Amino acid sequence: MRVYNFSAGPAMLPEEVLKRAADEMLEYGETGQSVMEMSHRSKEYQAIIDSVEAKLREVMSIPENYKVLFLQGGASSQFAMVPLNLMNGSGKADFVLTGQWASKAYQEASRYGECKVVASSKDKTFSYIPKLDPKEFTPDADYFHICLNNTIYGTKFPELPETGNVPLVADMSSCILSEPVDVSKFGLIYAGAQKNMGPAGLTVVIIREDLIGNARDITPTMFNYKTHAENGSMYNTPPTYGIYILGLVLDWVKEKGGLEAMKKINEKKAALLYNFLDGSKLFKPTVTGPERSIMNIPFVTGNDEMDAKFVSESKKAGFINIKGHRSVGGMRASIYNAMPMEGVEKLVEFMKKFEAENA
Ligand SMILES: *Cc1c(COP(=O)(O)O)cnc(C)c1O
Repeated sequence: MRVYNFSAGPAMLPEEVLKRAADEMLEYGETGQSVMEMSHRSKEYQAIIDSVEAKLREVMSIPENYKVLFLQGGASSQFAMVPLNLMNGSGKADFVLTGQWASKAYQEASRYGECKVVASSKDKTFSYIPKLDPKEFTPDADYFHICLNNTIYGTKFPELPETGNVPLVADMSSCILSEPVDVSKFGLIYAGAQKNMGPAGLTVVIIREDLIGNARDITPTMFNYKTHAENGSMYNTPPTYGIYILGLVLDWVKEKGGLEAMKKINEKKAALLYNFLDGSKLFKPTVTGPERSIMNIPFVTGNDEMDAKFVSESKKAGFINIKGHRSVGGMRASIYNAMPMEGVEKLVEFMKKFEAENA
């Protein structure tokens, strides 16, 4: 029996996607082989990677002057790859610290140049998105970095900072494909696949073409965007199977009606859980206000033993990985695209019952 998996990542994949992957596992089309076994230089695989890129461009409405790169190394490698490639003008960059991932991006970039924290919400365990004062922005920064959706803390930027000519760089690991974004507002978008796009091992980078080709001399060949842009993500062996699964996920997103439809479903799922939490006598959401994430929803009872009891009983009832991140405690329900409405409905039912028995 499949469980409802509320993991922050690797996370659930749509059942339809897994079934199709299973159907095609032994033989993809008429090729006599699994996608996993295919040469990445074969024309069969070239057709797969080309179609995945085309689908991603279609689903996200990616403008012509952006390159799509299929890389490895996780979002965490981008914390270094971005400064190595972009921080080669003034050598400065701005950061908004909205959580652990944003802080890691800042720390890593600080090894390469002059990094400024323009705002932080660390004072309240990153439970809100800080107000931004454009007067604090560095006018000649090489880039401005944000983490759009903060996986651990359950916040999302309600609006994008206006950075003018300074390229906006966003870590979208936990919100990519959850709703439409205007790609043209960004210089670079990156995301690890294992939240909303596919299996771990694939990292997607969407980069404006003019930002390619300015890497520092010390940049390792594999960390240079130019290397991958010039070789169609085939400089070396790309994560072939992960890219194929992303293609199936994109087919699924398209069938559901694209990102506008995903947004509606995601907002409905999140509202169901938030409405319950807001009225609950036992559970409290840790984030209030317009910066609430529709992907990751942390909540607490305020009592560590009660939290542990809930985590243990929910697991027995078939809701797994609902324990919160150690830095926040309590619980967290990650409800990415692949979590069905039914999963959230059943979780809320279970929470109501738990509340009645324990409040
Ligand atoms: C999961 C996550 C990461 C880390 O991704 P890796 O692929 O494990 O390096 C970074 N940023 C955000 C926002 C995440 O959710």
